[in-house]
Amino acid sequence: MVREQIESRGVRNQQVLAAMQAVRRHHFVPADQVAAAYQDRPLPIGFGQTISQPYIVAFMTELLMLEGAERVLEIGTGSGYQAAVLAEITPHVFTIEIIPELAARAASWLRAEGYIGIQVKSGDGYHGWPEHGPYDRIIVTAAAGHVPPPLIEQLKPGGRIVIPVGGVFDVQQLTVVDKHADGSLTTRQVLPVRFVPLTGQGLAPDG
Ligand code: SAM
Repeated sequence: MVREQIESRGVRNQQVLAAMQAVRRHHFVPADQVAAAYQDRPLPIGFGQTISQPYIVAFMTELLMLEGAERVLEIGTGSGYQAAVLAEITPHVFTIEIIPELAARAASWLRAEGYIGIQVKSGDGYHGWPEHGPYDRIIVTAAAGHVPPPLIEQLKPGGRIVIPVGGVFDVQQLTVVDKHADGSLTTRQVLPVRFVPLTGQGLAPDG
């Protein structure tokens, strides 16, 4: 999977490649998807949600430019797989999932795999998790119509948000938002992607 789907498409960061090698993806999918766990596509995980394609997980992780001590907030825990990949690189991982059953299952899968330092919460990630902020990096794994202002507030100067932005029925743009030392923002679009929508108060993408 790592060589054929990820390195071949240009992901070069050694920490990211090692993390993708280390996490047992087949332990983050429902039993009926285990045989497909390493295929080059997203898979259903129940409740109408998906675990992202391995390449997209690796690419988004590479975009975070982690060195190993960053505080990272993930919005959209889903299976817990992306959180596990992050935790292979930094010990400070916080993740929020809006569907309580998915949050509980991901927490239990993460525990079973030994990722005991990851904090999982059930709630609407649009509002971030201010109690644990500010964060060096924020990764959103569901598509939003705009970058939620609370996430920008909870980002440290020098920090980065990686988020798919766009409409539910459209191809979205994977977007990188950098917050500079003076608080100003730079935004750039890096890849067309297709994600399930951010729900809750963040609600349907509104362009
Ligand atoms: N990162 C996940 C993984 O590794 O399995 C995949 C995430 S899936 C593509 C998107 C997830 O975002 C879904 O589980 C969905 O329920 C969740 N979600 C949608 N809106 C949300 C919100 N407002 N707050 C938190 N989670 C949300």
